[in-house]
Amino acid sequence: MIKLSKSSLSIKEKLAVSNVLDREFLGMGQEVQEFEKNLTNFFGRPAVVVANGTAAIQLAIQSSGIGVNDEVLVQSLTYVASFQAISASGAKPIACDVEPDSLCINWRDAEKRLTENTKAIMPVHYGGAVGKLDEIYKFASANGLVVIEDAAHAFGSNYKGNRVGSFGDIACFSFDGIKNITSGEGGCVVSSNEKVIQKIRDARLLGVEKDTDNRFLGRRSWEFDVRAQGWRYHMSNIMASIGIEQLKRFEELASKRRALATIYDSILVSAPIDRVLSNLTEIVPHIYPIILHSGERSYIREQLLSKNIETGIHYQPNHTLSLFKDSKNKELSVTSKIYPKLMSLPLHPDLTKSDIEYVCKELIKLL
Ligand SMILES: *Cc1c(COP(=O)(O)O)cnc(C)c1O
Repeated sequence: MIKLSKSSLSIKEKLAVSNVLDREFLGMGQEVQEFEKNLTNFFGRPAVVVANGTAAIQLAIQSSGIGVNDEVLVQSLTYVASFQAISASGAKPIACDVEPDSLCINWRDAEKRLTENTKAIMPVHYGGAVGKLDEIYKFASANGLVVIEDAAHAFGSNYKGNRVGSFGDIACFSFDGIKNITSGEGGCVVSSNEKVIQKIRDARLLGVEKDTDNRFLGRRSWEFDVRAQGWRYHMSNIMASIGIEQLKRFEELASKRRALATIYDSILVSAPIDRVLSNLTEIVPHIYPIILHSGERSYIREQLLSKNIETGIHYQPNHTLSLFKDSKNKELSVTSKIYPKLMSLPLHPDLTKSDIEYVCKELIKLL
């Protein structure tokens, strides 16, 4: 089976986990501190690690002082995690439309959905690309909004020569098993805003103030104060030990993803589909989405599966889900038009050139 996505693990990750197990300190300690330090170096500004990407987004929103009665503009075409993280903070996700080419948020559409309760905009870096991020920041600052980037797909991507996460208000990453790098489960928030970072450091450990400092010394707090809602959202040493090794392999993993996506591009250039990702020298592609010209997606996906080729759909629009339906929200014409034709081809670092050629051959036959 040619899998849509999977983790890519070397002996180094396995040995690192084994070392943590041998030391019998599984919780949040030395490895978490080291992973956080390495990520801070990677981005050139403070990073704080948490249990997963959804928690990262939720804590980024909460720590920006956004909650009940507030609204966050976000594209409907994203993983349900983006929407659930917003609603977990108490705020309301407002579904917005996307740009037809990049499938990143269309800020002109978002502008139409502004109300006096709008506090933030959350661009989702679809597939690893970041859309019109400069314009989004301009729009946000003109309207007093915080930009909270859902960069779960974009670990290692660049925008105009700068690493995503190294600039801007707040960026949230995921290290779940199939993301650009993994820590098994995990995530991080990156920001220059020291107040936000400090709040997240406390909020991930049930709001226990400065408990992070004690954990990194192999201790824990027994007498403390709690002043804000916190959660059990810290990372464990087991997870961090995987993340440390994956971060060391970042260049290898990223260049494999880029090379495979480039092969797709070159074979599919004349196929009757639209490609979504561009700029493969700047971004690290997380998925390889295509837009079919006809609506025969389920037939094509079934046929490919019968040839041992897994495909995916990124994503069912969130405004169609019962929890997030909002009859007052205006129509999302691009999302509704593109969604039935959207599908993703296999992309992970352990695929070979001939795997990609086989996928393309079978796909083109069906098209
Ligand atoms: C993976 C993902 C998340 C959430 O990350 P988890 O680590 O799975 O919680 C959020 N947004 C998008 C777009 C994702 O793909």
